[in-house]
Amino acid sequence: MSSRVLAGLSEGLARLADTVAPRRCTGCDEPSAHVLCEMCVELALALPVPPPRPAAYGACRAALPLAAPARGAIHAAKYRGCRRAIHVLAALAAERLTPELLAAGPPEAVVPVPLGVRRRRLRGFNQAEVAAAALCAACRLPPPRTGLRRVRETPAQVGLGEGQRLRNLSAAFRWEDGRLGGGTVWLVDDVVTTGATFAAAAYALQQAGAGRIEAVAMASCARRGG
Ligand SMILES: [Zn+2]
Repeated sequence: MSSRVLAGLSEGLARLADTVAPRRCTGCDEPSAHVLCEMCVELALALPVPPPRPAAYGACRAALPLAAPARGAIHAAKYRGCRRAIHVLAALAAERLTPELLAAGPPEAVVPVPLGVRRRRLRGFNQAEVAAAALCAACRLPPPRTGLRRVRETPAQVGLGEGQRLRNLSAAFRWEDGRLGGGTVWLVDDVVTTGATFAAAAYALQQAGAGRIEAVAMASCARRGG
């Protein structure tokens, strides 16, 4: 049996186990009927919102630091196929980020950061798509647009000159859904680490006519110098 089939099988079994086994909170692993228990939700709401990072394309925001309880919920989605964990994180993101985002008016489009075809097939779903859809629903916006394609994985940007950096960025993503109208676009992903993926995706959107990009992540890893 190929490793791809095995990976798919084990993800399927994990998803099944998720529906039949006694539930545990993904944040603290205590028994809970919910993806995040009441205490973890309270903890999440009490954490300070990570400050927005200004970027050449606009700004990058995250609802929570990638620590308890968000880390467990992200892992449950990524490795155990638990989509509900992303729904809960997106609801938290809507609560914590969108009042400020919507103060500038509704976006022209909400766009999830796509996975490569192979990774999308292995995982069965893209957390960024689930998060973008949940965010749109929470803010009563039209559904996300899915015209962004990942042409190749975003390479590390560390130590590259400006020319090479731009070549890398322009080659990573492509927008395939006509021209954008110059408005603000919310670009959604599950986790932001260095910001290189957001920068590359934002570059493709702006090449296609987008105005300001508000990059929105459910959780943010502390900057590690890359
Ligand atoms: Zn908990």
